[in-house]
Amino acid sequence: MPKRRAIIDYDKCVPDKCAPDDGICLAAAACTHSIMEQEERHESPMIFRADMCQGCSDCSQACPFDAITIA
Ligand code: SF4
Ligand code: SF4
Repeated sequence: MPKRRAIIDYDKCVPDKCAPDDGICLAAAACTHSIMEQEERHESPMIFRADMCQGCSDCSQACPFDAITIA
């Protein structure tokens, strides 16, 4: 069975809507494994080292716009 990983739906991700003040992505901040990170504030997050993603759902639970699924 393939490992479950986070997938970002960039159509749903609107950083300036969910973090208008500091521009910090809540989902990336929730990823304590440093797999999902922002390169710059006010930008959508990226998934780095996808093969290391734990599929733990911390990021998807933190995103207020359901922009992340675990599949
Ligand atoms: S992934 Fe979610 S929390 Fe992160 S910037 Fe996009 S909409 Fe906001
Ligand atoms: S599923 Fe877990 S490890 Fe993977 S990007 Fe989300 S928070 Fe990070």
